[in-house]
Amino acid sequence: MAPLCLRPWLPLLIPAPVAGPTVQLLLFLLLLGPAHPQVQGADSSGEDDPLGKEDLPSEEDPPGGEDPPGVKNEPKGEDELKIEDKSTEAPKDTEGSQNNAHGHHKDDHSHWRYGGDLPWPQAFPKCAGRFQSPVDIRPELAAFSRALQPPELMGFELPPLPELRLRNNGHTVQLTLPPGLEMALGPGREYRALQLHLHWGTPGSPGSEHTVGGHRFPAEIHVVHLSNAFAKVEEALDRPGGLAVLSAFLQEGPEENGAYEQLLSHLEEITEEGSETWIPGLDVSTLLPSDLSLYFRYEGSLTTPPCAQGVIWTVFNQTVRLSAKQLHTLSSSLWGPDASRLQLTFRATQPLNGRVVETSFPVVSVESSPRSSEPVRLNSCLAAGDILALVFGILFAATSIAFLVQMRRQLRRQSGTKGNVSYHPAEVTETVT
Ligand SMILES: [Zn+2]
Repeated sequence: MAPLCLRPWLPLLIPAPVAGPTVQLLLFLLLLGPAHPQVQGADSSGEDDPLGKEDLPSEEDPPGGEDPPGVKNEPKGEDELKIEDKSTEAPKDTEGSQNNAHGHHKDDHSHWRYGGDLPWPQAFPKCAGRFQSPVDIRPELAAFSRALQPPELMGFELPPLPELRLRNNGHTVQLTLPPGLEMALGPGREYRALQLHLHWGTPGSPGSEHTVGGHRFPAEIHVVHLSNAFAKVEEALDRPGGLAVLSAFLQEGPEENGAYEQLLSHLEEITEEGSETWIPGLDVSTLLPSDLSLYFRYEGSLTTPPCAQGVIWTVFNQTVRLSAKQLHTLSSSLWGPDASRLQLTFRATQPLNGRVVETSFPVVSVESSPRSSEPVRLNSCLAAGDILALVFGILFAATSIAFLVQMRRQLRRQSGTKGNVSYHPAEVTETVT
């Protein structure tokens, strides 16, 4: 496999299953139209999808440290992408409603909820804006931009003290971050982290806010930042780039994620809406993917009221892995308004309305397949399907070349005969006539 590796690794969200770009290019150059569909068919017909096995997060290296970067997983190993193949529709009441029945709440969170009969825009007009979040990310439609550099994090490694406030605000679990967590999207684009929170579904249904190719991940983390150009969040709302959110998908992995356990182990202390606890400081960067260089970027909005726009979204391509038990804990521990479980805490995806999602990495556009909506990571090393396609391609190329050579020989013989018998007599005859 080593000689076939193109790069250390290149996670891509592409439709699956398909032959790799190298193979496709080779097949195209060899003008093997018939061979390509055969290869595709061979891949898609099998139960073992080589691309599907090489999932997004295999390089994720949580503090548990069981999966060192650079070590590739066996294609048929246990690291199969476990994207929940559930409905991607948001709960019908996800737009929420004004919920004034709970007048005892003190903060703005009391005025809306996931669930309800009236849409958010009735109480929060900005939620009807044209450039809202979340969105469904279509990697094949995203625009690669070399200018997109990895976000730089500074000061995210917090000491155990002082402790941090972890709160069940009735919509999510939110960790308030202290001053000093600096983030830069680029030169002169500096931010400071304010808080982080999560979005989730139910134990049986995924709950990320963004989707990729229509697929929803089990959960999603948002780290919310305020531009250093503004003193307060209120000033930054609706200002282009006033707020920036770093977002990552959480999905199931075989091991417990030690970083997330530092949060999840305290959920039992804040099961009631409005309750809070204090937890030791932690390295916040470990809650994000290890590779911050691969991401999708677009401008959108807050995904909760007031839905202010101008938010710079960075949605990482690499996902973060939590154990099944941890994901279950996340989606089943907290309670929200009306003595209901706090679940399905995500907003429906919003139309792009002409926006173009950018990517920091080139996305290989490939043909769709029956299972095309499953986002997978395409590893740079040629997978089993690629090798099979390569072999078929070469064999077909050899056959085709031999056929063409034989045809050319025959044509040469025939053309000599035609020149003597057909052309001259015909021209002569027509001229005379
Ligand atoms: Zn959020």
